[in-house]
Amino acid sequence: MSSGPESAPIAGRPAMDRAGRRSWLCVTCGNEYPPAPTPPDECLICVDDRQYVPAAGQQWRPLRLDEERSVAIRDLEPGLRELTVDPRVGIGQRTFLVESAGGLVVWEPPGFVGSALVERLRAAGPIAAIASSHPHLVGASVALSHLLGRVPVYVHELDRRWVTRPDDVVVHWRADREIAPGIRLVRCGGHFPGSCVLQIGTAAEGRGALLSGDTVMVNPDRATVSFMRSYPNLIPLSPRLVRQIVAALDTVAYDRIYGAFGNIIDSAARAAVHASAARYLGWLTDEIRDPDDPGPA
Ligand SMILES: [Zn+2]
Ligand SMILES: [Zn+2]
Repeated sequence: MSSGPESAPIAGRPAMDRAGRRSWLCVTCGNEYPPAPTPPDECLICVDDRQYVPAAGQQWRPLRLDEERSVAIRDLEPGLRELTVDPRVGIGQRTFLVESAGGLVVWEPPGFVGSALVERLRAAGPIAAIASSHPHLVGASVALSHLLGRVPVYVHELDRRWVTRPDDVVVHWRADREIAPGIRLVRCGGHFPGSCVLQIGTAAEGRGALLSGDTVMVNPDRATVSFMRSYPNLIPLSPRLVRQIVAALDTVAYDRIYGAFGNIIDSAARAAVHASAARYLGWLTDEIRDPDDPGPA
């Protein structure tokens, strides 16, 4: 299903399709929905057990091209920049801009398409692709693609039913794939069956880095990681899925991990992932216990 291209940015106008219908954004999660006279009854992302509908109830707002928020871009390392929007939108993930010989990959864009963002991206381009680790962090990917030359928006095949705005620009992928030279989507599963990371081969001085989204959560101690089905509702993953994630990551080179919300493991990240998985499995299986716990009665 295609919803048609966005109109060009015009002050005072919402993002509309050719029929003049507005796209809608879930205020809580920041995901966009197709142009329609009225928003949907509920957000399929927020009613899922991994997310939540806030106490005030479901809220929508039209996606506006003239929305004013400030955009800041910061260098993280050569070829990798972080983009943040203020005030934040939805969950408030940071967006990454990854340079390659084939153009820029925009990773986990916000639910925002104001000119402060679009003009910065056009200036930083050409844009090769838009991609995200999983359905919570896609923001307004489709509207953004329409504004940036209809570049592909990569969504794993196993997460197809969570696409909130189906469109011709969405590319469903299955086998791990290089979406730009040296930049690879690696499917791990776990948080969602299609959850993935973005591996950048030249990052971390050539040792490789991962952009991990919610697939691998970098903890505030910046030395360990975790893995969850739901972070807000604190639902863990099974031992099988934790082992599956670690095994998938062992197929690629990486020494550094950038989390979605600001935390970084700067070096020796593979050892940190293995140690964190062993700790997680130890607690799940009762093989690790608090030293003061007397054990079963
Ligand atoms: Zn939502
Ligand atoms: Zn998530």
